[in-house]
Amino acid sequence: MKARAFSYLRARTVEEALTAHAEAGDDARFIAGGQSLVPTLSLRLQAPKLLIDITHIPELRGVGREGETLRIGALTRHCEIMTEPLIGEFAPLLRAAAPFVAHPAIRNRGTLGGSIALADPAAEFPAMVLALNAEIEIAGRSGARRVKADDFFVDLFETALAPGELVTAVHVPLFKDHQRIAFDELARRRGDYALVGCGMIATCDKVRIETIRIAFFAVGNVPIRAKHAEAVLIGHALDAARIAAAQAALDHDLAPPESDEVASAMRLHLARVLLGRLLGRIGEGA
Ligand code: FAD
Repeated sequence: MKARAFSYLRARTVEEALTAHAEAGDDARFIAGGQSLVPTLSLRLQAPKLLIDITHIPELRGVGREGETLRIGALTRHCEIMTEPLIGEFAPLLRAAAPFVAHPAIRNRGTLGGSIALADPAAEFPAMVLALNAEIEIAGRSGARRVKADDFFVDLFETALAPGELVTAVHVPLFKDHQRIAFDELARRRGDYALVGCGMIATCDKVRIETIRIAFFAVGNVPIRAKHAEAVLIGHALDAARIAAAQAALDHDLAPPESDEVASAMRLHLARVLLGRLLGRIGEGA
């Protein structure tokens, strides 16, 4: 199938993109990497009258330090997350997750902003910005604002973005020397969307976990923080009994939906397995 006919506008500024969207209303869509949008157009799952190309807007590009955060422009492509030195140094959890996103051809075009705005519950980056306690920078006709990742992902493919608003960047607190990260996912084949995935960032003294944020994906309508498991871990050494207690606490954090692909109980089991592996790596200082 082919997409229905649409008009195309290459926006040069955020203002131009926002104005064009406001004028077209429901009939407009922003397009970034196009790796999620274009397949839905081709399948005629949506048929906007206007595509607003945001990939030539300089304000949406670039990675740089801003105070205690790393500002990562919305147009940063998945492949750049794998290679940009500042991301490797200050946001290594994003770096760890990036190779698991789809395949090289998709990573060459897909963007961080597109992934966050789409909010696919099985996607890696929404969960990682949640684990990182990042803030999403948003531009709208009434001005710019920032929303914490904890408040951004509202429901299935639903975010705090109002219609016509743009994700302009993601702000990630700078990674510190005494922090540790771990990421992994379980998928049927490398590059497939995960059956269950998880990433975490912990602050540790010599023996104890001081702070930890754990986020799962592909286990519900939105990326989910494992707050009960986090509470079990904080203030304690990562021995086998503590890890087992955190795995048990996942019963209170996750209630994966039944699906034809994987039963809810199996997904919860896989989440426990993954949590155990990742906490083991945190314990080893990996
Ligand atoms: P687009 O497709 O251009 O846009 C997606 C949506 O977001 C559209 O509604 C668009 O209007 C909106 N949008 C885009 N940018 C912005 C912005 N800055 N502000 C507001 N709205 C915006 N993703 C994964 O995470 N993990 C995977 O394993 C994975 N596997 C894939 C496998 C295949 C075969 C394909 C085709 C895609 C896969 N993806 C996967 C999706 C891919 O990562 C997408 O690139 C990404 O989800 C969306 O980024 P994009 O820049 O391509 O967005």
